[in-house]
Amino acid sequence: MDVAAWLEGLPAPEPDSAEFLDEVRADLEATARWCVAELPPEALPLRLPKSRLADLGRCERLATARFERPPVDEEMTEALFRGVALDRLVVHQLVAGRLLDPVAELRGALAAEGEWAALDHLDAMDDVEAQAVLWPLVGAVTDAWSAIDASWVPRTQAPAMLSLADGAVVCSGVLDVELGGPVADRPGAVVEVKSGRPSAAHADEVYLYALVVALRDRVVPAQVARWYPGGDPVGLPVTTAVLETAARRLGDGIEQWASLRAGRPAQEHPGWWCRFCPDAEDCPSARTDAPVDEDELEGELADGFAADPADLGDDRDD
Ligand code: SF4
Repeated sequence: MDVAAWLEGLPAPEPDSAEFLDEVRADLEATARWCVAELPPEALPLRLPKSRLADLGRCERLATARFERPPVDEEMTEALFRGVALDRLVVHQLVAGRLLDPVAELRGALAAEGEWAALDHLDAMDDVEAQAVLWPLVGAVTDAWSAIDASWVPRTQAPAMLSLADGAVVCSGVLDVELGGPVADRPGAVVEVKSGRPSAAHADEVYLYALVVALRDRVVPAQVARWYPGGDPVGLPVTTAVLETAARRLGDGIEQWASLRAGRPAQEHPGWWCRFCPDAEDCPSARTDAPVDEDELEGELADGFAADPADLGDDRDD
């Protein structure tokens, strides 16, 4: 099933969700205000992009280390390049309606966005290598993302932000593709484009986006989905239970991050993520040989275990 067919099967949005969403926002607002009340101004705003919430769920010291020493020049691995390329190919297909010269179109998009590491990676390939990497992605994008009716008003790389406590707490993200919703008078849908294999973290990610979009629009999107090349969109219905779980996770993350920024010592929780931790050399709990769930790891790496700068906003300056 391509994305166009999946969209046509979406249910109508819940008509009376505004009151429920107002209650969810009020609870988060109360949590945020309570958490920031004792924090000094230099610790604000508290920023909780999806990558930080994921880190906090893994290891508090990892989250703190990556906040204090964010990666500067991220190594452009093959997996990461595929992820960057796939996002741009989907955008081009949606905006221009076709991919005529994918290598040139990708090169232009990377240059325009200042994605120099990815552009260098592409330029280092000869034609055969570039085709071997890109052609399967191009075929998958063309199959899945063609013929989407303009009435869905597709938006790509759309920022979504939840601001609480007068801006003292900010949860932000960049939606790969957003379709429908109030601007289109269609059921709302968010699709995250994933180049790796399915990862458990991806589900938490799309639920968080469902929450942010629902609170932004005061309308619950019909579904949030992950799309992996060669597969159907994996849609997840957005129920009140889903939103409550996402809100609870976000509220816990706000409390956790606020207490760390207030000076509580970070706890260590080793796992496969130790091998990517800036503190691994000094940490007594480090387990860089921890067994890896290969599927989870590949999914995470392909979509950027190291934080996506676009996802962090200006977090690195605070
Ligand atoms: S090495 Fe592992 S346990 Fe130690 S801080 Fe890093 S992620 Fe946490």
